[in-house]
Parts: sequence; C-alpha cells; structure tokens
Amino acid sequence: MIASKDFAARSRQVAADLTHRGFIHKALSGYELKRDENIGKFQNWGAARQSAAEIKWETINHLDHYLVEFTSKLEARGAKVFWATTGQQVCDYVSDLARDKGAKKIVKSKAMTSEEVHLNAALRKAGYEVVESDLGEYIVELAGHAPYHFVFPAMHLKREEISALFEKELGTAPTRDPEELTMIARKVMRQVYCTADIGISGANFAIAETGMISITENEGNARLTTSLPKVHVAIMGIEKVLPNLSDLALFLPMLATAGAGQALTGYNSMIGGPRQPGEIDGPEEMHVILLDNHRTQLLADPEQRDALHCIRCGACLNVCPVYRSVGGHAYGTTYAGPIGSVITPHLRGLHEWKHLSNASSLCGACTGACPVKIDLHHHLLHNRRNAAKAKPAWWEKIAYDVFAWVMDRPALYRLAGKLGYWGQKLHPLVERTFLDPARSWTVTREVPKLAPEPFRDLWKKRRQSATT
Ligand code: SF4
Repeated sequence: MIASKDFAARSRQVAADLTHRGFIHKALSGYELKRDENIGKFQNWGAARQSAAEIKWETINHLDHYLVEFTSKLEARGAKVFWATTGQQVCDYVSDLARDKGAKKIVKSKAMTSEEVHLNAALRKAGYEVVESDLGEYIVELAGHAPYHFVFPAMHLKREEISALFEKELGTAPTRDPEELTMIARKVMRQVYCTADIGISGANFAIAETGMISITENEGNARLTTSLPKVHVAIMGIEKVLPNLSDLALFLPMLATAGAGQALTGYNSMIGGPRQPGEIDGPEEMHVILLDNHRTQLLADPEQRDALHCIRCGACLNVCPVYRSVGGHAYGTTYAGPIGSVITPHLRGLHEWKHLSNASSLCGACTGACPVKIDLHHHLLHNRRNAAKAKPAWWEKIAYDVFAWVMDRPALYRLAGKLGYWGQKLHPLVERTFLDPARSWTVTREVPKLAPEPFRDLWKKRRQSATT
C-alpha cells in the first residue's frame, strides 16, 4: 500500500510539471526519429522481430540446458561462476571477494542487476569506494538520484543542472557544452580505472555456444572496467543467455536500434574468461554471478514466462504515454515503464506492486515497440487478474459479486440500464460535490453517454415493424 501511495503521489507531482514533461517528451521524440531511421536499415524489421522472439523462446524454454553449456565453457577457461538465488547473496559474494582481495576501490560499468540488488549501497556500507563509470550513472550517483531510465539514466537532467552539479561536486568551471561536460567526467574516470582493484560489469548477452558474455556500450567505459582492474565481476540475470554466437548478428543491431536509435553501438566486447597464458592484458580473475532473484518463479509460469525474453532495450518505456507523463522516478522500482510494471510484481511481490499493472492505458504501444514481441499490455491484464484472484480488496469482491448477480438476471440488468441512464442525466446536479460518488474519476474523465433507448428495445421495435 505504501508503494502504491508513493507512486500516486510522485506521479501526480510529475504529471503536473509541464516543463519537465515537455523536456522528456522532446528527448524521446528525437529518439523515435532516429529509431525509425535505423529500423529502415533492416531488410525486414517484422521478420527480425519474429526471429528474435523465436530465439528467445527457444532459450527460455530450455534455459537449464543453455545455462549449463554457458557456464561449463566459461569455467573451462578459468572463470568462476556463482549462482545467486537472492540479491543478498550477490552482495555477500562481492563483499567477501573484495575483502579477500584486500580491495579498497571498485569501479562499475552499468549493470541493472546491480541496481536491482542494491549492490552499491551494500559495498559502501562495507567500507568500499564505489565509482560508476557510465556517464549517465556517474551523474545520477553524484546527484543522489536513482536512474531515470535504464538506457538513459540521467535523461531528466539538463546541461545546466549537470554543469552546476560538477561545479559543486568537482569544482569545475560552468559550461553548457556537452563535450566539455563529458571530458570533465572522463578525466575523473581515467584515474579510477587505473587505481581500482575490482571492476564490476553487467552483461547484455551470454553466449552458450562459446561461454562468453557480450557487452554493448557507447562510451568504452565497460571495456576499461572489465580489463584494467585485476579482478572482473560480471553480474547478469539468468535470462540473458542466447544459444549461438551468430545470434548476436541479430541481437546487437536490434538492441542498438530499439534502445538508442543507433545502427550499432560504439563498442561491442566479448569476454570469455580471465587473462589466458600468453596474453598481455586482461584481469587475473573473472567471476560471473548468475542472478535468479525470483526469475525462476516467472519461468515456472507458462503464461508469463516470455517476460524473460526482455533484452532491456527500453523501447517500451520510450513509447509509453504513462511513462512519458509520470517519468522514471515515480515507479520507485529498478525497472520502470511497461516491462517494469510486468516483472516487478513477480520480482518484489504481487500484492505490494499490483498497482503498477493499472498504470497503463492498455493502448498497446509498448507491445508494438518491443523488438522481441513481448505481449506487454496483455501481461499487465494477467497481473491484474492474478492480483484480484490472490487477494481482492473487500470493495472489489462486493462490487464483482453484485455485478455478477445483476448480469445473471435479465430483468435486473434491464433495470440497471434504465437507472444508469437517469443517473447520468441527474449527475450534473451533484457533479464534483461530496455527493458525487465518482468524483475522483469524473474530475479527469468523461464517461460515455448511455443511449436513451437501449439497443435491445430498438431491435425489438425493428423486428415488430418487420413482421407487421
Ligand atoms: S519489454 Fe521489450 S521493449 Fe521493453 S525493454 Fe524489454 S525488450 Fe525492450
């Protein structure tokens, strides 16, 4: 209930801030133009989506097989694999590793799974210095904000705000030039890579055939994070695996197109273990953490397991009218927008997070944008149904029982239709007063007008006139 109240309060606040909404709208409209341009570079975007959906279906439905193939090949090259059931196990594993290695400083590239398990907070609490190397993540960390979007974490901040933040935190001169702002962060970051004891990354994909992780990015920070420190830790959800190396030929351009409106990202790395004999660089140790954190519960649900097909491109957020109105912070979750509303009730509890399933107009824009064809808006309906079945609110139970009782009795149904018509006629007399039982609805919505004569009566008359 607290999560739903927080969501409602934050949404109301952001939705009323037209300047902020205009800023987000402008940023995302630019993305749409670039995305459509790059979709045009695919021979057949529809066929590409279908292929991607089928590959993910095959993988998720045989996840046990592909995960074992991936881990055995990775371990054969000296990487250590840790299977984490919970987020706490991830935090404990990394903290223990840092202690054993005598680490002081840890550099991170963007990893949504680490956000999901609150790894930074756990490591800082244990006394380690943790620095985010992704520019957007670095900015939001410095500002003390949560990421606004899982592809563009700092998209809610204007250049002037970032400049003021750098001025306050780093003592730099004010500037509106994006390149200068980037160079300020770059200068800080270069020192961190060279002095960090451990580098932590995520993984965009894991290839079962070769036992490698694939990281796609635009800044080169993930490449430095995973290769300069002596120890590399990669954290990934178990759903990230793909069967074959050749699958990347589809998924890398698809992720770049759907996620950032790019043909391909600037840097694409494949990592298959720690430094091998004869190699002159790379980490001495590589640890790969495979995170479950309730994903296997979702896997056990045949109706909704395709939510695990998600490649975290963020396209569904970008087109969602609700996300565009309430923004990324309103949700209070690691994964915002439509996909977040679908999976958060599974990852964090249906009862507390069921309100997210109602944060949708069910327009289907998310489903239309999803490159791996996840039927997002129907999953939101499934979540609503599951929540109502699991623990209906008392008023919902009474309302549905009364509704079913009336619908089962034709005479009562006819009477209800007549009462509804007259109720609607009289409604303006009490509208928006305390006597209006639906005022919280009618203040922002227009209810469709009931016809003075129902179709049933019109049909009856028509049949009578046809027979006379
Ligand atoms: S659900 Fe689809 S559109 Fe949304 S982030 Fe995942 S892959 Fe992208």
